[in-house]
Amino acid sequence: MTFENKRAAAIESSASMAIAMAARKLAAEGRDIIDLSLGEPDFEPPAHVADAACAAIRKGRIRYGVPAGMESLRQAIVEKFRVENRLHYAVDEVMVANGAKQILFDVFLATLESGDEVVVPTPCWVSYGDIVALHGGKPVYVACGPEAGFKISAERLEASITPRTRWLMLNSPSNPTGAIYSAEEYRAIAAVLARHPDVLVVSDEIYEHILLGAAPFVSFGEACPELRERTLIVNGVSKAYAMTGWRVGYAAGPKALISALGKMQSQSVSSVSTVAQAAALAALTGDQAFVRRASGTFAARAKIVADRLAVIPELGFTPPDGAFYAFIGVQKLLGRRTAAGEVIADDTAFASRLLHAFGVSSVPGAAFGAPGFIRLSIAASDRELAGACERLAAMVGSLA
Ligand code: PLP
Repeated sequence: MTFENKRAAAIESSASMAIAMAARKLAAEGRDIIDLSLGEPDFEPPAHVADAACAAIRKGRIRYGVPAGMESLRQAIVEKFRVENRLHYAVDEVMVANGAKQILFDVFLATLESGDEVVVPTPCWVSYGDIVALHGGKPVYVACGPEAGFKISAERLEASITPRTRWLMLNSPSNPTGAIYSAEEYRAIAAVLARHPDVLVVSDEIYEHILLGAAPFVSFGEACPELRERTLIVNGVSKAYAMTGWRVGYAAGPKALISALGKMQSQSVSSVSTVAQAAALAALTGDQAFVRRASGTFAARAKIVADRLAVIPELGFTPPDGAFYAFIGVQKLLGRRTAAGEVIADDTAFASRLLHAFGVSSVPGAAFGAPGFIRLSIAASDRELAGACERLAAMVGSLA
């Protein structure tokens, strides 16, 4: 018997999750594995986060919450946007969900008609296309390679818009490439969108605080205020505060859209766990030193990886400006053979060989709509990162 409808059957489980599980299985079998597949900070959130959650439990604040998020947390989110991004939203223009991921579910569930198109510049986060497709939309992938700084240009955007285009999906800093859009680049995009008044923008800014070099973060909302009424800004506490498992994301946008997203939540999850919301409130309103420290740690790790990859000429590597990934071109190595004569045909075969023969788990670029690359997470210790780079160098050296 088949249980899945066509929409469910058309998508796969998250590729990065699947690889992480394979790596864990090998490690459980006693193999020495450096797992660089998943994108989550490898340290604990600040102590006041757990304290706030415990206090909420002890005080019995564990009833159903408001679908769009508890008032005090929404106030804190309003404040976050005002102070950090110079954006002014009212409480009913922001909402809370079970991670940024659920906001995307809410958005496409609430707004897409069957066959509506969503422009997704690639390389992109593994889930965008599948979430769009699951809600009957059509992801329109626009390849933006290293020559374009992994970013969509005004020309490419213009060429990808059709009468069916409903949304443009932006993500800066980007997972997987670490690319950051400048205000000028955003304004060039806005100039195109000015000619297409029905196209809306989701700006996924979840890696806002993970900055690795000199490039500053700019919110799409701040760069393009004229698009405020058709922009949804998505963010969350997962990456900035090492709170991936707490499942709290948030968004800001026009009141009518936020209200539609709240309606989706009221009929699905009811609300985000009130305990998790208390923890997120503490994260957003507490001491922010953690965020700066974490960003500094990731920047130092990015340098370790960049220095080691720079001396492997067969690899194509643009050091990331943000987020915590190294996106590495392996095109020059495809078609080469292992000592046993096995051909490394594509990035998936490359990642598989790197895992099974050299004990490093990565995610193939195909999962991000960018074949010919692999992604290593740099959310790991200095020793693991140095070790992974050595193993990668050994694999490259072993191919004939
Ligand atoms: N957006 C991007 C670009 C991500 O990389 C991730 C997680 O990997 C998410 C959203 C999901 O974030 P959350 O944990 O808030 O659902």
